Amino acid sequence: MARYIFITGGVVSSLGKGLLSASLGALLQARGYSVRLRKLDPYLNVDPGTMSPFEHGEVFVTDDGAETDLDLGHYERFTGVAGRQSDNVTSGRIYSEIIHKERRGDYLGATVQVIPHVTNAIKEFALNDSDGVDFMICEVGGTAGDIEAMPFMEAIRQLHLDLGRGRSIFCHLTLVPYLSAAGELKTKPTQHSVRDLRSIGIQPDVLVCRSEHVIPDKERRKIALYCNVHESAVIPALDVSSIYEVPISYHNQGLDVEVLKAFGLSYGDEPDLAKWEDIKDRVQNPEGEVNIAVVGKYTGLPDAYKSLKEAIVHGGIANRIKVNIRWIESELFEQEDAVHHLEDVHGILVPGGFGKRGTEGKIAAAKFARENNVPYFGICLGMQMATVEAARNMAGINGAGSTEFGPQSDAVVGLITEWVKDDGSVEARTDETDLGGTMRLGAYDALLKAGSKVSEVYGGALNISERHRHRYEVNIGYKKKLEAAGVVFSGMSPDGALPEIMEHSDHPWFIGVQYHPELKSKPFEPHPLFASFVGAALVNSRLV
Ligand code: GLN
Repeated sequence: MARYIFITGGVVSSLGKGLLSASLGALLQARGYSVRLRKLDPYLNVDPGTMSPFEHGEVFVTDDGAETDLDLGHYERFTGVAGRQSDNVTSGRIYSEIIHKERRGDYLGATVQVIPHVTNAIKEFALNDSDGVDFMICEVGGTAGDIEAMPFMEAIRQLHLDLGRGRSIFCHLTLVPYLSAAGELKTKPTQHSVRDLRSIGIQPDVLVCRSEHVIPDKERRKIALYCNVHESAVIPALDVSSIYEVPISYHNQGLDVEVLKAFGLSYGDEPDLAKWEDIKDRVQNPEGEVNIAVVGKYTGLPDAYKSLKEAIVHGGIANRIKVNIRWIESELFEQEDAVHHLEDVHGILVPGGFGKRGTEGKIAAAKFARENNVPYFGICLGMQMATVEAARNMAGINGAGSTEFGPQSDAVVGLITEWVKDDGSVEARTDETDLGGTMRLGAYDALLKAGSKVSEVYGGALNISERHRHRYEVNIGYKKKLEAAGVVFSGMSPDGALPEIMEHSDHPWFIGVQYHPELKSKPFEPHPLFASFVGAALVNSRLV
């Protein structure tokens, strides 16, 4: 049976609970343990799929088609363990299932209440699908004291008791702010936050304290005393220059040792951190740099492109270079000539997105890249817009567009109404279908054309599996016309109905993919498309 580590946060949000959970997972793996990570989110959306990226950052998609919190991306990038539907739950999902059961009559006669019905459902979720796992790391979203997080806090309190002695611990992340006027670090917010937890029956075993300054021993002792934890279990978390240094940094502060101690497990052996040392070395000592423009719609909030940004960093790690990302609002290209913004850019990436705003700018960016031999990487909407660009400017289909933006005279990109799943079953959609959870989601196979650029990038592979999240698709009816104009469809769904990849073969590097390769990239296993794209940008940087 898995041991449970509950991660909570206090004082303020955005302290890095996700990174703490992911790094702790990586450290336990480095000691030979198997881990899984899951996230309990207190908000009322059933999943984050319908939330704006501006609101909630990126939606991370798992192989089994769940639309989840972006922290699951951190978990995968740090541990390589693929997340599943069973690894993210929200209050919305818990309540909708309970209300569904209540309407069906499952609780006939009983009053349905937060305790025990909601808390039991949360506990069931946390315990479910945990066979063969040494450590289950459960992160609770929000901060201690939030009204909406209360049922989750109560559920983990109960679980701690249910699981029995030595089977679960609480790890709490807080902030130790520095007041420059007083010239002091302040421990009071941490004390208050732990007091909040203790008042609901949760005593943290390990306290992780984010701080911009080194926490002197005197303050550590004070935190330990007031919060009722061992002094060695007060772990300072100082800022580091790259998130991939976090596991090593936490290890140096004793996090993994304190966690093992709290479980009563042996901790004498050193973890094997060689792969993290190698990544740190590559990040700290790059042998060159390139500039990549990301032309998108949510560029004001980097979290909206979390996995994308990390996958580009991984492309840099693969090539041992630093990648400077220039975030460019695609609408800009609708007003101005792209050239000003792209002069010293060595590669252009147009990411996924939804809705019409800025799409003409994305089409302009694709045109610029094609005509000027600048490496171009189109992802999902970026692939669709590159196809529309080719349709208009290479195949002479002037009215080419996507029905996502309204009726089109030539719907080169249109709603997918039917597709075959990998297990052979057929999914169907219409204009009337609900928007939540109904896209073509999760892992699907694609067959690659032998000898194509993309097959070369994948090391000669002819069959790949990648994660999808889209409602529209390049219309197969235009395939022949586009091919005649020079577009190569180098990847297709196994039934041949859905174009998955397009490329321009007479270009140094121009590839559009309907799926999201960024979701599977890891620092220790950079995705081949990102490694190759950054490599092509490096070659281009030497030409200009
Ligand atoms: N909006 C497009 C679609 O639904 C692209 C989606 C995406 O980029 N993830 O097909």
